[in-house]
Amino acid sequence: MTSGSQHQLRIQSWMTAAPLVRVLRALDAGSVDVRFVGGAVRNTVMGLDVGEIDLATPDVPARVIERLAGAGLKAVPTGLEHGTVMAITDGATFEITTLRRDTACDGRHAAVEFTADWHEDARRRDFTMNALSLRPDGTLFDDHGGFDDAKAGRVRFVGDAGDRIQEDYLRILRLFRFFAWYGRVPLEPATLAACRAHASGLSRLSAERIQQELVKLLSAPSPVEAITLMAACGILQQVLPGGFDVASFARLVTLEAQTGSGARDWLRRLAALLPSGESGSVADRLKLSNVDRDRLKALTQAGPFLDDHTDPLHLRRALFHLGAAPVTDRILLAWSQRQDVPSPAPWRALLAASAAWTPKTLPVSGDDVLALGVAAGPAVGRLLAAAAEWWIGAGFEPDRAQTLAHLRHLVDQSAGADNKDGSGGGPEPLAL
Ligand code: ATP
Ligand code: MG
Repeated sequence: MTSGSQHQLRIQSWMTAAPLVRVLRALDAGSVDVRFVGGAVRNTVMGLDVGEIDLATPDVPARVIERLAGAGLKAVPTGLEHGTVMAITDGATFEITTLRRDTACDGRHAAVEFTADWHEDARRRDFTMNALSLRPDGTLFDDHGGFDDAKAGRVRFVGDAGDRIQEDYLRILRLFRFFAWYGRVPLEPATLAACRAHASGLSRLSAERIQQELVKLLSAPSPVEAITLMAACGILQQVLPGGFDVASFARLVTLEAQTGSGARDWLRRLAALLPSGESGSVADRLKLSNVDRDRLKALTQAGPFLDDHTDPLHLRRALFHLGAAPVTDRILLAWSQRQDVPSPAPWRALLAASAAWTPKTLPVSGDDVLALGVAAGPAVGRLLAAAAEWWIGAGFEPDRAQTLAHLRHLVDQSAGADNKDGSGGGPEPLAL
């Protein structure tokens, strides 16, 4: 077994921030071989910003808690069965995990044993770029060629892809997630073949784990290649059982970048990826929250009602009723569904109008309708909708007095119509 190679990295500013230094002292990093692991090390090697900072130590969790408490730091046992303790100091949090070896893996969970051997800990990690560890003095330990792989943007399993996938099927999704974020060279054919061979194993994962990975994947700057490969390997079929439309998804990601409109909205990207009208089975499969489920439904259901032939009145109406963000969503989704390449100018004009929109309030309310003598009931809503339609048509210009006058006119008209044919009068509320 290789003992791996070492590199000397320059000390980074995140490594010397006061809260982290406090934690390192508490863990006695001078004499115990405490190291940074995971994303912080990978991103440092790649020259990218560092987000959360994870540490690992040969000390067992009880000892970690004892040390933190001894130094007056708060310790929260967030995942003791996995050997993880969270240290909190000055509002900053750090996960500290005891070195582990996986003893049994059933495709979902691993039984773990603690170890003091850094090589064993590296061996159980998923990708070579994620299996690096870094001492606070800048010594980087690289057992599996992760340093070169990180620099090259090569996402590669530690060990045999098929074996590692069968230990934990989530690693298939993690592969495409890390490829979407950090991949700069193609995935190896053997890796893709292993994903294809074990795609059905994804059915054993919980919805929460799948959702978490998919959200991170869809939030990558450019996830199109990863999604395309997932479709080619039969992975996407497992995650999106109701089908998918990779071409529209690809167009949406391009349009986000070209128009600079709120890029990287994972739910909007998911909506683009689904065939129109489809959202229920995905919401179930991923156990989306009610808020996400409702938004996804709205995004996939309505069809391309806003397009490059939309007249200004219709756009104003949509903005008034829905607000700017949903209208922008619908413009982008409708545009991305176009297989021809339409002239961008009308679409850009729609987006600009949406971006410039400020919310407006109709200057009359249901109380005004009641005050005009209309009995409580569906007629109130109809009359209000008719007044709103008139006000929108007039470019939101009429003030309260003018709108009230028009409302009175509508009430009179509707009373007259009621007398004639009992139809209740006024247009139906507009369907958007
Ligand atoms: P991010 O910046 O997105 O948090 P990360 O690399 O820190 O990236 P995490 O999901 O936080 O990713 O995992 C931390 C580390 O734990 C990984 O870098 C990897 O070494 C290891 N790891 C996490 N999940 C697995 C897994 N399913 N199988 C093997 N190793 C894993
Ligand atoms: Mg992390």
